[in-house]
Amino acid sequence: MDLENHNLPPDTFLVGLGVSPGISIGEVFLLNRARRTLVEHHVAAEQVPAEVARFQRALEDSRQQLQKVKKRVSAPHLRDHLYIIDTHIMILGDEMLIGDTVGLIEQQQLNAESALKRTLNKFREFFDAIEDEYLRDRRSDIDSVGERLMRNLLGERQKSLGEIERKAIVVAHQLSPADTMQMDRDKVIGFVTDVGGRTSHTAILGRSLEIPAVVGLENISSLVSPGMPVILDGTAGTVILNPSPETFKEYLAKKQAFEYLEKELQAYRDLPAETLDGFSVTLRGNVELLQEVPGVLAHGGAGVGLFRSEFLFFNRSRPPAEEEQYALYRELAQKMIPEPVTIRTLDVGGDKFVPEINLAEEANPAMGLRAVRFSLRERRLFKEQLRAILRASAFGRVRIMFPMISGVAELRECKALLDEVRGELRAESVPFDEEIEVGIMIEIPSAALVADLLAREVDFFSVGTNDLIQYCLAVDRGNEHVAYLYEPLHPAILRALKMISDAGRNAEIKVGMCGEMAAEPLYSLILLGLGFNELSMNASYIPRVKRVIRQVRKEEGETLVAHLLTFATAKDIARFVEEEMARRFPELFGPPSI
Ligand code: PEP
Ligand code: MG
Repeated sequence: MDLENHNLPPDTFLVGLGVSPGISIGEVFLLNRARRTLVEHHVAAEQVPAEVARFQRALEDSRQQLQKVKKRVSAPHLRDHLYIIDTHIMILGDEMLIGDTVGLIEQQQLNAESALKRTLNKFREFFDAIEDEYLRDRRSDIDSVGERLMRNLLGERQKSLGEIERKAIVVAHQLSPADTMQMDRDKVIGFVTDVGGRTSHTAILGRSLEIPAVVGLENISSLVSPGMPVILDGTAGTVILNPSPETFKEYLAKKQAFEYLEKELQAYRDLPAETLDGFSVTLRGNVELLQEVPGVLAHGGAGVGLFRSEFLFFNRSRPPAEEEQYALYRELAQKMIPEPVTIRTLDVGGDKFVPEINLAEEANPAMGLRAVRFSLRERRLFKEQLRAILRASAFGRVRIMFPMISGVAELRECKALLDEVRGELRAESVPFDEEIEVGIMIEIPSAALVADLLAREVDFFSVGTNDLIQYCLAVDRGNEHVAYLYEPLHPAILRALKMISDAGRNAEIKVGMCGEMAAEPLYSLILLGLGFNELSMNASYIPRVKRVIRQVRKEEGETLVAHLLTFATAKDIARFVEEEMARRFPELFGPPSI
């Protein structure tokens, strides 16, 4: 590789968002779809029909191109993602997209490109104002479709990733899922984009193809030139342009270490998650989309510990009907047999926005009409979801989980409604699992405080640490100004976790965790010591957590927890845990060797 002849200074270091882990070292393949500046202009009245026709033709061309992409995809792991292309084809038929653009051409006599640009900007403003990360990332779907339409309008040739002849790292302003699907894993060894978020479809595809990726680099596509040497660290979210020979060597060693660790972790896939003294922990996957199921299986997950059903309600104009929910839950359950899937009922409200569900503006949405509070008010919607879940339970192992339960009365209300639905299904002779397990998320401090009372009335607990920490410490989980106070190892959190697990154990129910804390191997020994026996996480973390579990004794975790509970501050606890884990697992938590 030519390490010298490019204009940028050596080791130009850029920081973005790592969305697919791993290190790639290679040369830039620039997917040069330069950001163009369009000058708005008007057309004569008699030209208006021709302008509308030009726009219609661009719509049709785009539709046909996407159909072609769909036909060419044959790899089974990609077929699961074809729905994204369907979504894009659907966007091409969107009434607002077409209606507004044609309206601007007709009423303001704008040329088609300018009219399309204005319509797309309106869509973008709408999406950018959304706080929820997943929903905001859906803007990338509009951007992809808009870009394709614009290229077709301008008569630009669609450069395809199929044109790559040798291994390269793709750099682009933006990649559409259609681009990503055309990536040949032997040629595209990584990708980097100016825009994008963690949950954009392109990022999800990158993870599922296991191609290292960094997004959100803002202007990398205008900094690089084709063939420029580049290093991409998808774990750290960094990119180095024009690496010096020393940096090159350093990252080669890091890459080898990463690949070695991945291979080693593969070996854990089929091994039980059991401590040296025989304590068994069930490790499951957190899933938002059906498409993530193969990843759970590939990483040895024992079913789904958290299915965030609200994702089914996002990005659409009306809530899914019972039939649609049933079909999806059923497929999920069937794909996971013999392991269970834990379907969490709708957790909307707060910052989780669903357009068709017109929630009133709330001054304090995190403490507002969220999750089961909302479901218990919108009973028809709630019952439809419960019916769909129960019906799916006849086809696999399904568990129901209620989010944001604050106390026994609220739980009883949910269970009463569930009983009502059960009665209706029995009366209609619709089969369902009579023994279906019913559990709750423990993520509100009041639930932790009355965990002993709640434990008598459910089959399992699953601690949602993302919310539990936010509510216990009064620290908004998404607010960067108070992020320094978001401390999972705060003594109050450890006490709350102990209280919950003790209550669960005394009542002989399963005590799990599905918040992000469960995915952090640094905490695995603590969670073992606290007695958690079900941990659910993004599937790619399962092997790392399992590796720690298999090398320790539960007893050691108990001793550690007893000691940690004597500290007064989160900093002291964190320091002790870091040192202890680095001593036990120098290769995982020790200082970097290079
Ligand atoms: C949690 O709060 O920890 C959790 C798993 O739920 P969510 O992140 O969806 O609020
Ligand atoms: Mg939560």
